[in-house]
Amino acid sequence: MNLHEYQGKEILASFGVRIQRGIVAHNAKEAVDAAKQLTAETGTGWHVIKAQVHAGGRGKGGGVKLAKNLKEVEEIAGQIIGMNLITPQTSAEGKKVHQVLVAEDVYYPGASETNEFYMSVLLNRGTGRNMIMYSTEGGMDIEEVAESTPHLIFTEEIDPATGLLPFQARKIAFNLGLSGTAFKEMTKFVASLYKAYVESDSSMFEINPVLKTSDDKIMAVDAKVSIDDNALYRRKQYAEMRDLREENGIEVEAGALGLNYVDLDGNVGCMVNGAGLAMATMDLIKQAGGEPANFLDVGGTADAARVEAAFKIILKDPAVKAILINIFGGIVRCDRVAQGVIDAYKNMGTINVPIIVRLQGTNADLAKELIDNSGLDVQSAVQFQEAADKVKAVLS
Ligand code: GDP
Ligand code: MN
Repeated sequence: MNLHEYQGKEILASFGVRIQRGIVAHNAKEAVDAAKQLTAETGTGWHVIKAQVHAGGRGKGGGVKLAKNLKEVEEIAGQIIGMNLITPQTSAEGKKVHQVLVAEDVYYPGASETNEFYMSVLLNRGTGRNMIMYSTEGGMDIEEVAESTPHLIFTEEIDPATGLLPFQARKIAFNLGLSGTAFKEMTKFVASLYKAYVESDSSMFEINPVLKTSDDKIMAVDAKVSIDDNALYRRKQYAEMRDLREENGIEVEAGALGLNYVDLDGNVGCMVNGAGLAMATMDLIKQAGGEPANFLDVGGTADAARVEAAFKIILKDPAVKAILINIFGGIVRCDRVAQGVIDAYKNMGTINVPIIVRLQGTNADLAKELIDNSGLDVQSAVQFQEAADKVKAVLS
């Protein structure tokens, strides 16, 4: 589950990670009030107005702007709230901005230069260990850094038995070229950041930039935080932070029905049981010259009610030109699934796209007979290849 920047920062701060402070505003007036309050609390003269949407690269899209007085705060907040923000990480339509974070300006001049770093905490799936990735090249596109100057990205793996050790935090501060106060600040920053990652059950932290201020403080200016969905049951306070407006509408609906659905760009809807078979089915569709419109695992109990719910979800995507149902009858018998498909079809009245059903496993013959004799516009297939050929035929 992804969070907004302001929510991520709230979590970081609760673990003692220093952050650029800010207050959320939903309209221009609230933004001005927030700016006044921040000035009173932090002494900041300027403010940064930051669009709160689930997408990075907001600065590039005009979603992060500096305001030098209250009039500018009002103008910029008024302009950003309600806009459709298009960034390199959103779709072409962009994302509607419902709220902004009014933040203190932390790039103030002082005794030393400001410096932007990159830091993320994530799981290395290869070794099964958490790692901290960091770079001197912060503030910019990290993918670009990885591409052109990979030697400027460092990683530090953490042994789960010992946790992050003090020498590792010092190594990171050293590799980032820090000394004196900033060095000490960075070791504290890294230690509290790692603690926050582990204790919040996160699956990813990305702090870009981590800023060294001109008076040698180290703080998170941005925060991209993802909480592990499987841990939300025991992290209720984070589960409540979910903003459904930021998520794919069809995926949210499917999730509520207990269906494992991921929206994709193609034209062939898939209804499958089991994630492995679902992936094989998507490959098959590609080989047949189609593109999968979705990943959908209906799970073990593919009864009429679930099949109907799955049909409805798949058909919400207007790009769907055909539906391929590929179910393996192991514990669930194929004839029962076939009856489920027929009942669901009848309940729905008309379905305006061709449907190809491949049922394999227990009672597959009976299932084919049921489909073929149903009088409905549903084609049956027994072999995988046969199903692919039929998909190809209906697409051309
Ligand atoms: P992103 O573009 O979505 O990654 O949003 P960020 O939160 O990273 O902000 C984008 C950029 O805005 C940062 O890289 C900074 O260069 C700039 N920025 C953020 N906060 C401040 C600030 O307090 N003062 C100034 N002058 N610039 C800031
Ligand atoms: Mn950023």
